Amino acid sequence: MARTKLIAANWKMYKTPQQAEEFMRAFLPMLEAQSKAEIVICPPFPALHAVAGAAGTRVGVGGQNLHWEKEGAFTGEVSAQMLVAAKCTHVIIGHSERRQYFGETDDTVNRRLKSAIAAKLKPIVCVGEVLQEREAGLTEDVLRRQCVGAFRGISAEEAMSIAIAYEPVWAIGTGKTATPQIAADAHRVIRAEASKAFGEFAAHSTRILYGGSVKPDNAKSLMSEEEIDGALVGGASLDPKSFAAIVSAA
Ligand code: PEP
Repeated sequence: MARTKLIAANWKMYKTPQQAEEFMRAFLPMLEAQSKAEIVICPPFPALHAVAGAAGTRVGVGGQNLHWEKEGAFTGEVSAQMLVAAKCTHVIIGHSERRQYFGETDDTVNRRLKSAIAAKLKPIVCVGEVLQEREAGLTEDVLRRQCVGAFRGISAEEAMSIAIAYEPVWAIGTGKTATPQIAADAHRVIRAEASKAFGEFAAHSTRILYGGSVKPDNAKSLMSEEEIDGALVGGASLDPKSFAAIVSAA
């Protein structure tokens, strides 16, 4: 069975609620009726309401992070239940910027993932190697370690809602894109880990997205690779026209 492509926008720390509304007003009419890809927009928390209000049924809405507790003295965090109440359908977990700047570890990724699944949010779990790791030939080891850590204690049934984003850190925001071949090789390693953790059926159904400088002009060649089930898009998702072009390439 073919996997439906998933195209997710990660707006990072860009756009006020008003800018988000302007984006949605421009973006939605650009979507081609025949496009079957699933679309998700992950704005910063204050713009969730604006995006969710405009999204309708065609576009999903995601948080960029969540905490594993339901509530508590965790200044600056939001829970899965709060995202659901804000009409989120999805959540990004373990983005490399969270790992790099905010101390995210494989263990915290695992806790956040379990909490997202329990709240019926669809998680997009990010994995990927930094440049030194790639140059040292450690890419596969890193991907395996991140997958094993993230998937610990999750059942095959629970895993059915998970999407994984392979995001080589050297390709994020740098304009350097992994070749479709590099991405497909990494995706095979990730799918093999998913298969070990969840069995072949769940692993085959799991969407593995590519992220790292996806732009309208490289989206088609990446997306035509069988192993690439969609894209997590940062910079190029901020402009309605370029994000719509990436969606139509899928
Ligand atoms: C990202 O933020 O997940 C990302 C892939 O960014 P960019 O597309 O800008 O490289």
